[in-house]
Formats: sequence, structure tokens, C-alpha cells
Amino acid sequence: KRLILIGPPGSGKGTQSPIIKDEYCLCHLATGDMLRAAVAAKTPLGIKAKEAMDKGDLVSDDLVVGIIDEAIKKPSCQKGFILDGFPRTVVQAEKLDEMLAKQGTKIDKVLNFAIDDAILEERITGRWIHQASGRTYHTKFAPSKVPGIDDVTGDPLMQRKDDTAEVLKLRLEAFHRQTEPVVDYYTKKGVVAELQAEKPPKEVTAEVQKALA
Ligand code: ADP
Ligand code: ADP
Ligand code: ADP
Repeated sequence: KRLILIGPPGSGKGTQSPIIKDEYCLCHLATGDMLRAAVAAKTPLGIKAKEAMDKGDLVSDDLVVGIIDEAIKKPSCQKGFILDGFPRTVVQAEKLDEMLAKQGTKIDKVLNFAIDDAILEERITGRWIHQASGRTYHTKFAPSKVPGIDDVTGDPLMQRKDDTAEVLKLRLEAFHRQTEPVVDYYTKKGVVAELQAEKPPKEVTAEVQKALA
């Protein structure tokens, strides 16, 4: 299957991704994770992306389209993939459809993580991440056994620089203005399934499974 996850920051995309990935053996492509890795490694791409990311703005369409174009051509992604955080603009969606048309494929399903903005600040400011694996914890909703330590590896957890209430406001503005139109774009193609993303994680997983059955 070829899937897209769309939802505001903190809506639970990263939490549901590994479950979907394991169940359907798909490759997981998260543009945010890829960009953060490029920033950390100070690659030319990372240097270009950093300023926009720190401010809660989107990075340029050309940059992310290039990353995805390269990734979906990989042999490991031929059976299907989960796009997490891409496309975030209608231009990105159109470019993606062009790339897939060239391969003779298309998007099977768009999972729309619907959630009220009011819930997201608590989710984002409590988020702790194990960088190497992408495992995500939450101080209140999904605490690690030892605070600040990954359950599996014992490594320290970290918080994202942009996971503050202030930057979240800007990221949400970008979401409503630039990414919500992407949902309309795919709704016209009849491939969108809406999830009640404010429910507990297990209930959201059940909705995902129903949408993909
Ligand atoms: P996204 O990838 O959409 O930005 P995450 O999956 O990282 O969101 O979730 C944001 C934070 O909220 C994390 O700390 C995560 O543990 C927590 N979280 C995810 N899903 C739920 C849920 N259904 N209920 C409560 N907390 C959740
Ligand atoms: P979230 O947890 O908010 O959904 P991500 O980890 O997906 O955040 O993205 C973090 C940042 O990376 C975004 O605020 C944006 O600056 C940049 N980014 C990620 N994906 C894209 C994209 N498809 N287009 C433009 N910018 C992106
Ligand atoms: P305190 O009660 O003094 O705040 P804690 O032992 O609760 O100390 O937490 C120590 C640090 O680890 C704090 O920065 C806290 O936000 C963070 N933390 C707490 N719980 C978790 C968790 N489940 N996952 C990741 N980090 C956490």
C-alpha cells in the first residue's frame, strides 16, 4: 500500500507509524525526521532547511520534493510506503502524483488525523523522543519507565527544539493555511479516511486498521 498520514503537529502520526509499518511491511518516510538528521549532520540541505524549521515555517517545496523523489525510488520502498509529514502543500501533492504516475502507481489512502488545536499544546510540550529509533514518549500520556530514559536501550531521551508552545502556534498556522488544502485535494480523489485522533492511542490504531482493511 502507498499511504499518506496528514495531521497537525502532535496529532499522533509518529506514534501510529511504526504499528502501520510493521503490520504492512512498508517503508516509513518522515520528512521531518530526514530534515532533522540533515540539520544535525550540517549537510548543505540541512543548512538550507534549519532557519525555516526553527521558526515553525515550512521548508521549500523543491527541497522536500527532492528528498522524497530519491527515497521512493529505493528498492525497499517498491512494495509500498508511509509518507509521514509529506505532502504538506498542494504543490508537493501534485509533484508526488506526477512522480507516482511515472512509476505507474498512485496513493491508495490518505489518513487524516483530525483533532482540535486545543489538545495539541499539552501533547507537544510533553513529547520526549529517542532519537536513534524514533520512539516517542509523553510525560503524562506515555511515560517511559525511568523519566528521561528510553525503555529499550537505556539511552537518554530528548526534546525537539521546536516543541515549545510558541513555535507550535506558528506550526499550526502553517498547517491550517498550507496543509489543510492537501486534505481537500485528496478528498476530491476519494481516498481520504478521517480518524478521531483525540482518542487514546489504541483506539486510534483500531480506526487505522479499519480504514486500511
Ligand atoms: P506527530 O508525529 O503527529 O507530531 P506524535 O505521534 O509524536 O505526533 O505524538 C505527539 C505526542 O503525543 C507524543 O508525546 C505522543 O506520545 C503523544 N500521543 C500520541 N498519540 C496520542 C494519543 N492518542 N493520546 C495521547 N497522547 C498521544
Ligand atoms: P510535526 O511533528 O510538527 O508534524 P515534522 O517533524 O513533520 O513535524 O516536521 C518538522 C519541521 O520540518 C516542520 O515544521 C517543517 O519546517 C519541516 N518539514 C517537514 N516536512 C515538511 C514538508 N513536507 N514540507 C515542508 N517542510 C517540512
Ligand atoms: P521532576 O519530578 O523533578 O520534574 P522527573 O523525574 O519527573 O523530575 O523528570 C526528570 C526529567 O525527565 C524532567 O525534565 C521531565 O520532564 C522528564 N521526564 C519525565 N517523565 C518523562 C517521560 N516519561 N519520558 C521522558 N522524559 C520524562
